[in-house]
Order: sequence, then structure tokens, then C-alpha cells
Amino acid sequence: MLPFKLIYSDGYYLPIGEHVFPAEKYRRIRDRLVASGVAEASDFLEPHPASDQDILLAHTSEYVDKLMTGTLSSREELELEVPFSHELVEAFWLAAGGSMLAARQALVDGVAISIGGGFHHAFPDHGEGFCMIHDVAVAIRRLQRDGKIRTAMTVDCDVHQGNGTAVIFAGTRASSDPLPSASGSPPAMHGIRRRNANAGDVFTISLHQHNNYPLWKPPSSIDVDLPDGIEDDAYLAWLDNALSSGLRQFQPDLLCYLAGADPYKEDQLGGLSLTIEGLKKRDELVFRVAQAKGIPVMVTFAGGYAQNVEDTVTIHSNTVIAAKEVFAVTK
Ligand SMILES: [Zn+2]
Repeated sequence: MLPFKLIYSDGYYLPIGEHVFPAEKYRRIRDRLVASGVAEASDFLEPHPASDQDILLAHTSEYVDKLMTGTLSSREELELEVPFSHELVEAFWLAAGGSMLAARQALVDGVAISIGGGFHHAFPDHGEGFCMIHDVAVAIRRLQRDGKIRTAMTVDCDVHQGNGTAVIFAGTRASSDPLPSASGSPPAMHGIRRRNANAGDVFTISLHQHNNYPLWKPPSSIDVDLPDGIEDDAYLAWLDNALSSGLRQFQPDLLCYLAGADPYKEDQLGGLSLTIEGLKKRDELVFRVAQAKGIPVMVTFAGGYAQNVEDTVTIHSNTVIAAKEVFAVTK
């Protein structure tokens, strides 16, 4: 039995037909974890969908109305890049419920993983890049409303910049903090000078490929713009730098880790060159830092578009194995 919970529902499946997003990955990850003996049935918790009131904590009523009534314009549906349906709306409400449950459970066990979620391209008033609802933002805002947390930090390791996250939580800016360079020629790391101390309650970190979607990258608290083709060691050094810098400036009550599988070298939508082993080291690094600081971690899976879906399943399953290895020590 795992020393933490996995949050999963068959309803996480996104009904989007043939698509570069492998919507069946969630069920396959669950099956892999059980078949390989990493997890057992009792390790899983089934989430309930978020309520409309929960969704409204991170989204405008105009946008939520359009989703409920199926009245997105064709331009808005195009921007979403997945075909609209009421079943899809239900899947996103459930993903938000799953992230809320993972966040609550992380406060109990120190870590919790939703086998889904991480839809970081959803904005308050629109969705894009396969993301309709920002499940992580809904979870953070709900726990804040319930008085369970005051502050949070998002650590987004998807290959694409967390533009929705940056906009929803605009207001917390890193102080200008020159960092030692990682190996080789350094990518740009932008810590925007603090304009208004303590303006924000959520500190956002995004490590992403610079030359990739989204074209417009609204500023996170810390953005690390990585060059094409960066490999394991350099990536891990930059992640370490970003985490150290962020945690020197900000003490979160909850860390929300978006463990995207798409920095993988064989990803169809990514241009970085991490190996499956490197991605597992990345997960271990985030977990070890959070554990050392005593910060609860909730995990969502975000993107993953490997040419071979089995690789995406392996990378996400390894995130659970990494958590098991790191957090088993103290349980
Ligand atoms: Zn992505």
C-alpha cells in the first residue's frame, strides 16, 4: 500500500476522438500502476466533480455560462483545440474535483497525485491548448476559501509555458535574483522585479521550451525559458535553481506540481531532449525539495504526446514511483 493517495476516475477520459492528446492515458496509467504492483485498488480515491461555484472561483461567469449552454463561438472552440461537447464539460468539472481532492489529501499525507488534470492553458475567460478549465487554480482557490491554505506555489514542468496559471495568479512576482548559471550557455531566467510586495498569494514557476506554444507568455513569478534540445543535466540544474530561488522568496502552504510528460525527447509537441530516466529524476527533485521543506505536494499530470503512448504512460507512472520512493522514507 502506498503512503499516499492516488486520485482517479474513469470519467477523466476526455471524449475528443482521434487526437494528438491521448485521452486514454489516464486509464492506462492506472492499469499499469496496478498491474505492476506499484499501487493497489485501496490506494485510489474517486473524486466528485467540482461544483459550478468552485469553477467560478477561477473563471468568469460569462465563460462558465457559455460552457454550460454550449454557446462558445467557433473562434473560441477553435482556440480550445478540442471538440466541444457537454460530456467534455463534465470531464473538466471532474478534473477540477480531482485536483481539489488531491490538494486536500496532500495536506493529510504530505503528497497526493491526481492521475489527470494540469490544464494550465485555461484562462479565467477562455480555454485554449486542450484546456477548458484550470483545475489547479480551482483547487487552490477552493482550499484558500475553506481556510485550509493561505498561500501556494505552482511548479510547472510541462514543456509549454503555464500561461493560464500566470494570468490567474498575476500579482506575485519574484524579486530580481541573479542566479548562478547552470552548465553550458544559460537560458533566460526571468524573475520580474517585485512591484508590490506580498501582492499575491500564489507564486508561479514555469520551466518551458522558449520556442514553443504559447507564443505570448504572460509573466509567471519565475519563468525559465529553455533553449531547444536541452538535456537531462542542464534541465535538472535549472529546475534546482528555480526551486531554490522561489523558496528563498516565498513560503507556500501547498506546492502544486504539474508533472508534464512532454519535455521528453520523443514528444510530438515538445522540442526538449529529456530521457525517461531524466524525467524521473526531475520528479524526485521536486519531491525531495518539498519534503525537506515540509511543504505538502499535490501533483497533476498535464501534457504528454510521445510518439509511443506507452512512453507517456511510463513517464507518468514513474512520477508515482518517484513519490513512493521519496515519501516512503518518512512513513
Ligand atoms: Zn504541454
